[in-house]
Formats: sequence, C-alpha cells, structure tokens
Amino acid sequence: MPTKLYCDFFGHNYEMTKKVTNHVKEYTCKNCGKELTTDSNGKLIELTPKYRDINTALERIYHSKLMRLKQKSLTSSIC
Ligand SMILES: [Zn+2]
Repeated sequence: MPTKLYCDFFGHNYEMTKKVTNHVKEYTCKNCGKELTTDSNGKLIELTPKYRDINTALERIYHSKLMRLKQKSLTSSIC
C-alpha cells in the first residue's frame, strides 16, 4: 500500500522531531514525512516554509532568553 494511502486510511504516525519552545514543537509523520507544527494557539498546523521561518526565529529568541537567564542565575549565585 502506498504510504500516502496508508496515512489517509490509518492516520498519520507523528513523531516529535524538534522542540522549538516549551509550547511550540515540530512533528513529522514517520510514514509519509508530512510535517506539522504547533501555532501560537497550541493548534497543530501544517509546517509551511512560512512557519518554518517563524519557528527558526522563535527558537533563536527562546534560546537566547534561556542563556540570559542562565547567566543571570550564575552571576547571582556567585554574588
Ligand atoms: Zn503520514
């Protein structure tokens, strides 16, 4: 059975492939490779190039924020 038909019949078999932030994650179907992401409302939507860009930006902001928090707590524990 072609994988696309398999998914139409049984549903996609999504696996989390990337954690962008605590709330936004990317998923890929293990059968057909279809990609999904969570939008700002927590709904699953298709991962279009536009959303991929948004996620890349989000990821950068999220991680730089985390880094800053880490440095802050490090400094405060020293002082
Ligand atoms: Zn699928």
